[in-house]
Amino acid sequence: MSIQTMNKTVPPFSNRVLNVDESLTVATFARMGELKRRGADLISLVAGEPDFDTPGNVKDAAIQAIAKGCTKYTAPASGLPELRQAIAQKLKRENNLDYEPSQIVVTCGAKQVIFDAVVALINPGDEAIISAPYWVSYADQVRLMGGRPVILKTSEETGFRMTPRALADAITPRTKFILLNSPCNPTGEVYTHDALGALADVIADAGIFVISDEIYEKIIYDPAEHHSIAAVHPGVGSRTLLVNGFSKAYAMTGWRVGYGAGPPELMRLIARVQSQETTNTCTISQYAAIEALNGTQESVETMRNAFQVRRDLIVARLNRMPGVTCRLPQGAFYAFPNVSDLYGDRVRNDVELANYLLEEAETGCVPGSGFGSGDHLRFSYAASLPMIREAMDRIEDALNRM
Ligand code: PMP
Ligand code: GLU
Repeated sequence: MSIQTMNKTVPPFSNRVLNVDESLTVATFARMGELKRRGADLISLVAGEPDFDTPGNVKDAAIQAIAKGCTKYTAPASGLPELRQAIAQKLKRENNLDYEPSQIVVTCGAKQVIFDAVVALINPGDEAIISAPYWVSYADQVRLMGGRPVILKTSEETGFRMTPRALADAITPRTKFILLNSPCNPTGEVYTHDALGALADVIADAGIFVISDEIYEKIIYDPAEHHSIAAVHPGVGSRTLLVNGFSKAYAMTGWRVGYGAGPPELMRLIARVQSQETTNTCTISQYAAIEALNGTQESVETMRNAFQVRRDLIVARLNRMPGVTCRLPQGAFYAFPNVSDLYGDRVRNDVELANYLLEEAETGCVPGSGFGSGDHLRFSYAASLPMIREAMDRIEDALNRM
């Protein structure tokens, strides 16, 4: 039946989908790719993905899996038993957390397990607390399920961290979960052990769930340390979905492997959702992920060190520009400068400034409003030092002309 012949009184598409936008990061990334294909001399500091190649030992493990004929569906759909075992061992070894492999579900990236959890937890009208600035997909995933994202604004003054008081004030009888993301995309902020403990006390009192997105766990800079809220407070641990994946630490964005670990009942429901949705993530990628966890970790450290040098360069350069101030991120690979002093007649907001930089500096970035803060722009420094230097020269020049 074509759309034209459908019943005119029934809107043809789902309001839930019409009410959300395409992911701004994914859309901006696609736009940069299109401009480059058309020959633009563009430096894109847009993509939230390591510019490094996937480590050789991980690629070899996938090639071996293909050669051995490991090319069928994964049974069970929740992930290869060997991979779930390797993840359980990693969570014990590095995070001091005890999970049975049956409490782990392997998904098509961390993005999918977050969405599956939203599907498993949210009834129409339920609320999810998300602190801003936030990663673009959280709020829209909640909206897609008919839930209501409750956005808690944070600022540079609190280090972009949510305070226990603000959290307590935001909790209502409809609150299902709070979303935590440390290290944070886009701010790079990291919650300390004590800060997590203070939030955990409020969460335990309220008895709500936590989705703890720890995908940037390994991209963290001295003296910051990663702590999982699941390990900080046992009462909260049993109500936490710990989310992690392979995209960032192992430069495996295209392989699409992430995972969640959490309480048995929630994990059974997440597995149920996945079984109706994608069956399993790519089996070959799962063999590669086993090697990523169990093999040498040398490349993780090499990449982290490179990101740190790039961070220091980009933040120093941004802070030298008039009207721009940028905190030193403690983790992830994004600079998130406050550019609101530049707003005026020529550019009125973050979207116009990002467009101005695209046209006048041939440099791509993501407007902060997509992350819930129109005062900022996001620059990924998962790019080579010469590219970052050239981008900063271009931006400085364009801002001087503005
Ligand atoms: N969480 C955050 C904070 C991210 O930046 C990303 C990057 N896309 C993801 C989750 C999802 O990663 P993936 O689906 O590639 O595992
Ligand atoms: N997480 C990355 C980013 O923030 C990749 C794109 C996405 O999935 O949002 O740019």
